[in-house]
Formats: sequence, C-alpha cells, structure tokens
Amino acid sequence: MYDINNLLRENIKNLTPYSSARDEYQGEASVFLDANENAFGSPLDTAYNRYPDPMQYQVKMRLSEIKGVPARNIFIGNGSDEAIDILFRSFCNPGIDNVIIVPPTYGMYQVSANINDVEARKVLLTKEYQLNLEGIAEAIDEHTKLIFICSPNNPTGNSINRDDIETLLANFNGIVVIDEAYINFSRQKTLIHDLTEDANMVVLQTLSKAWGLAGLSVGMAFASEEIIEVMNKVKPPYNVNEASQQLALEALNNVQQVNDWIKETLAQRDKLVLALKDFDFVLDIYPSDANFILVKTTDAKGIYNFLVQNGIIIRNRTNVELCEGCLRITVGTPNENKILIDTLQQYK
Ligand SMILES: *Cc1c(COP(=O)(O)O)cnc(C)c1O
Repeated sequence: MYDINNLLRENIKNLTPYSSARDEYQGEASVFLDANENAFGSPLDTAYNRYPDPMQYQVKMRLSEIKGVPARNIFIGNGSDEAIDILFRSFCNPGIDNVIIVPPTYGMYQVSANINDVEARKVLLTKEYQLNLEGIAEAIDEHTKLIFICSPNNPTGNSINRDDIETLLANFNGIVVIDEAYINFSRQKTLIHDLTEDANMVVLQTLSKAWGLAGLSVGMAFASEEIIEVMNKVKPPYNVNEASQQLALEALNNVQQVNDWIKETLAQRDKLVLALKDFDFVLDIYPSDANFILVKTTDAKGIYNFLVQNGIIIRNRTNVELCEGCLRITVGTPNENKILIDTLQQYK
C-alpha cells in the first residue's frame, strides 16, 4: 500500500520549515519593516526591492484556471529541474535509497541522483522505446522511492504507453514521476486530471518549452496535497523570483499565441521529417510527439561536425544507449528549418 509516511525521509517528516518575514503576519499592512529590504526602491523602472510571494499565489491561480487543477495541487519551482531535486531531497536517504530511471531519457534524473548520492537503477526502454515493465518490477526493492518516466520522452520523442504507466502507478508503492515537459505537442492526454485516483503520482510540466519561457525558468509539479505540502516545506522560500512571477503571469494570459505556435511547430515538424527522409545518410526517423525529432543516421558525428562548421547546432546523441547513430533536432522556424535542409544538401 502507498503511504507517504513510509516514503518520506525522517528529517523531512520532522522538519520545521523556514518561516519568512511575509509568512508570519496576517491582515492588512502598508508599512513593511520586517524583511530588511531597501525601503527606497530599486535602481530599475520596475520596483524589485520587495521579496516575491513565496507561494506564487497569482501564478498558481492562473495555472489552476488553464490546467483545470486546484491551486493546492500545484507546486511551482525554479524550473521543473528544481522539482526533480526537491523530490530527491524529500524522499531519498543518501547512500541508502534508490530510484529507477528508464534510459534513454532526460539526463537530469541521473545528475540529480548523483548530486544527492542516491543510486539510480537503470532499466533500459525496449527497442520500441517503451517501458520494460518486468525489468522495472525486478529492479524495485524496499528502498526504491521514485520512478522517473518522461512522456513524451526526451530524446526519443515518443509518448510512453498509458496502460503501462497506469500499471506502474497501480503496483508501485513509491512515487511515479511523469515528466510532461513536451505534453503541449503530444497527441496523448496529460495525466494531471488523474491526481485524485493516483495519490502516488507527480506530474512535471514547464513553461520552458511550448510556452517559450526558457529564460524565466518556471516549472510546475502537480500532485496530491500532501506531496505538494512536503515540496513547499523543502523548497527555498523565494525560489521563483518576482520578475519571473510577473512575466509568467503576463504570458499565461496569451494562451492563443502559444496554441498557434504549437500548431505551426507540428506542421513544420512534418515538413522537416519529409525533407529529411530524402537523404541517403538518414536511416530512420522516429515518430515524435514533441517539438524535436530523433534521426538515425549513418554518420552522426560527421553530420554533427559539418553542421557546427556551418553555424548550425543540433544534439548528437550517438553515445546514448539505444541511440547509436542518432541526432536530435529541434524544430525551428520555417527559415531555420530551410537553412538546415539546404546545408545538409551539401553534406556528403
Ligand atoms: C527541458 C526539460 C526539462 C527542464 O525544464 P525546466 O522547467 O526548464 O527545468 C525537464 N524535463 C524534460 C524532459 C526536459 O526536456
């Protein structure tokens, strides 16, 4: 049976969180002499002399409207990478506990595990880039706290079968983390509406990809209230700065623009796939549910270096397990994609 109390680290269970100046008072106030800020202002047009809202209330309310998830089930981080790190720090005892990752996948799970001195047990995806459920079941032991699943998966681009994810959620007593960084581009539906049935699920999303705000570093975790409470307790008090909160709020009022870009990106992705198929050095193009494609080639290193010489940077994934010969290409603007294809025509 899943029970958060069997998973939490003892020090986190007993933690008295930092109480910020702004947490302590209640009621109306107009004179703030509690946080040692510069009362005169800041040397900028917009005043940033005050600390930001530690709980990002306004951003959460807006996200709640857009996503159809109550604000109490939303955590906001300095990127979803911060949420990943906080999950390790909340649930995994260094040197004792372990997590399961399913490569080829997003590299940050392994790095965060290493930083926290937590073993990351690798269970490779199948040849079709789907979950090896038997392998995962064998890798789980009493110290397994988290399983990371990225869907649509980076760098392969495909979505993970929903039935398999549901099997994991139903049978694993730890926490299943579903990283939906690319969900806006996917045909598959988000899992954030299943939070009530799946108490042991954390869904990660971000404003860094489809929302076009990689420079602000705002990421979200959707989970049960008890998991969100733990994450809020462990996070640094002012983890999302005031500029990011204000700009995120402004951007979240422009859903239409983002939806238009998503459509355009998908159309461009299809065009790019067609154009790439014509090259002799392209062996395979994997089906993508994201804003990038994984392309298997005869000479990943040669093509990568040739493109770099021509001022075009893509990602060489040939050294990643199950990605031999593969290049990961982000879908760009029509003009950027044309430059890529025109340049590749000169490669031999
Ligand atoms: C880009 C990416 C992230 C990082 O998101 P941030 O919110 O910018 O930290 C997380 N997960 C995956 C799979 C990504 O590709």
